[in-house]
Amino acid sequence: MPLRFFNTYSRKREEFAPRDPGSPKIDIYTCGPTVYSRAHIGNFRAYIFEDLLQRHLEARGFKVHRVMNITDVDDKTIRGAHEAGVPLTKFTQQFKDAFFKDADMLRIKRADEYPAATDQRYIDKMISMISALISKGLAYQADDKSVYFRINKFPNYGKLAHFNLDELQSTGRVKHDEYDKEHIGDFALWKAWDKEDGDVKWDSPWGPGRPGWHIECSAMATALLGDQIDIHCGGVDNIFPHHEAEIAQSEGVTGKQFVRMWLHCAHLLVDGQKMSKSLGNFYTIPDVLAKGYTGREIRYALMRVNYRDPLNFTWNGMQEARQSLERIDEWLDRLRECAGDKIDSGRIDSHFGHEFEDALDNDLNISAALGFLFESISESNRAMDENKLDAKTAAAWLTWWERINCVLRFEPGDARVRALVAQTGELRLTGTLVAEKIPTEVARLAKERAQARLAKDFRKSDELRDKLNALGWEARDTKDGQKITRRAGA
Ligand code: AMP
Ligand code: ZN
Repeated sequence: MPLRFFNTYSRKREEFAPRDPGSPKIDIYTCGPTVYSRAHIGNFRAYIFEDLLQRHLEARGFKVHRVMNITDVDDKTIRGAHEAGVPLTKFTQQFKDAFFKDADMLRIKRADEYPAATDQRYIDKMISMISALISKGLAYQADDKSVYFRINKFPNYGKLAHFNLDELQSTGRVKHDEYDKEHIGDFALWKAWDKEDGDVKWDSPWGPGRPGWHIECSAMATALLGDQIDIHCGGVDNIFPHHEAEIAQSEGVTGKQFVRMWLHCAHLLVDGQKMSKSLGNFYTIPDVLAKGYTGREIRYALMRVNYRDPLNFTWNGMQEARQSLERIDEWLDRLRECAGDKIDSGRIDSHFGHEFEDALDNDLNISAALGFLFESISESNRAMDENKLDAKTAAAWLTWWERINCVLRFEPGDARVRALVAQTGELRLTGTLVAEKIPTEVARLAKERAQARLAKDFRKSDELRDKLNALGWEARDTKDGQKITRRAGA
């Protein structure tokens, strides 16, 4: 099945073909955070969609090179630093750090590069692009000393957002606060310094100032990925004016098509409205963690709906994410138990086909892919209930799971698992079944309990069960020995 994505530019689902047909290498540019405050989970919906995209492309054999920019200079960052009374770099650093911490918590694969707009290399590139635009008549310096892009001279302006320039006059989408511009829709490439900018300024042929937000992305994208990119992503709010402007600037300089495919995700909503800083209806990752949810539960909740469908954030939705993951965990426990030592016999090739991947090939249809996973869980659970699933098939399901989980990254873990060591082999010697890697302390107690039971010291064995319970683990005695599992809800 061919890989198809909905291209915002053409408003059509198109077959994905890399820029260089003979090579598996593809370049993706993703608009990153503006580091003036902590990113909210709406922002992370966009980053999770991009993670799903990257991981699925990799599962299909592509070698993805992904760049995500960090916007560390704009009106909001300057205002924030001013209000906090600290230098801009100090102000933005705390939010850069928080962004990486939150992204790791959600198991988002790191991009290959995170260029920052204030890096002198990129400032130089921005200046050279603006100079090229001026020399082509596509930009001009106005009386206020700022440099603007002349949208009337770029015939394709409006093609991404699908509206024409006349509409731009009436939609009110562009703030009319720059009176020196030739056209209301002309956007700033270089903003002349004013006293509110304080010491935030760079020298340029047009006097001291700072770059506009849009030129930052065009410069970083072309500096790191060249004149043409395979895929460019962001949330739908980025389509206009940001991505429209990126096209005008980049193509204005190079004369070549800038992006082959534009992918945009719908918003995360709260009560039907976009989750955003300005509306104040947002939650950060720490807000959701503080309610007792884990990073993987947030990951699930943000990923489960197709990226082009709006997703309403609710605590019920978080609870459903928890239940769905518990269902997966229990299924994996049962499969591991059923597979027994066939687990270790390793890579039994799955004969389960590629329905999961095929669903994702269809514009990342994650709800169909998850539907297929849960149908498979029901089917194999039924077979296990009826004792009809042999060890080899159970092991094959596990192999299949490992394959699809490279994309999903839903395995148990978070803080608990980071401190874990594999104790499986050692524990088996004491007749203990473990469904997953368990912490050292739990393994020690489990081993002690297995020995107490062998010695028929049931009082001690009960005490140890209580201790395990207190750590969030359950010891059950089965005909095959004690079984250690995580306590439901722990
Ligand atoms: P910003 O930091 O505002 O530049 O946004 C970073 C990324 O998050 C951009 O790709 C935005 O389109 C995206 N974004 C912002 N709010 C939401 C939301 N409520 N739902 C989904 N994506 C969002
Ligand atoms: Zn951008």
